[in-house]
Amino acid sequence: MTPVFFRINMNIINVGYDSTNYYLLDIRDGKLLVDSGFPGTLPKLSAELKRKGCSIGEIKYFLPTHYHPDHAGLTQELKNHGIKLIALEEQAGGISAFTEFFKTKKYPFQEIQPEDNINMKCTDSRKFLAGLGLNGEILHTPGHSNDSITLILDEGFAFTGDLHPVFALPENDLPSRESWDKINSHKITRIYPGHGS
Ligand SMILES: [Zn+2]
Repeated sequence: MTPVFFRINMNIINVGYDSTNYYLLDIRDGKLLVDSGFPGTLPKLSAELKRKGCSIGEIKYFLPTHYHPDHAGLTQELKNHGIKLIALEEQAGGISAFTEFFKTKKYPFQEIQPEDNINMKCTDSRKFLAGLGLNGEILHTPGHSNDSITLILDEGFAFTGDLHPVFALPENDLPSRESWDKINSHKITRIYPGHGS
């Protein structure tokens, strides 16, 4: 009988702060950042990166799980550093609502510019991720918000953002339940949530 070895090459670092998790993943020639903090908190992110032995210059791509201030507030500030935003078609409504939201708020928010984004549909994500050296895909997983997505890695990992765990869902939250069905149709062994562990 041939022994089966499971080896996880994927290096995932949590560079979160202010009660939110931001995940840094190794890709070919750099890092992919999943989610980022409130507008104006770039120094906090930089400090957290430094603490974990990384730097902002290593980040090549940014993927927000959804456009809420504690997950996508730094989007344009990251883009200003040459980091490419993975802008999914399924999140277009989220981006415009986000921009509107900040017009009435006092945050030091930098409006997200349409230039230099990587525009794609979730259905194109597997091919794109393969180019980064990641085996996986991005699923549209509404529930917490209409623009919520989940990054799935074939190693069995799911980055679910703020999709509430099934046990915490109200009976009538069908969108979230359907999103979990979609996620669980993949072999998931570990969840990386936007908050908590
Ligand atoms: Zn949220």
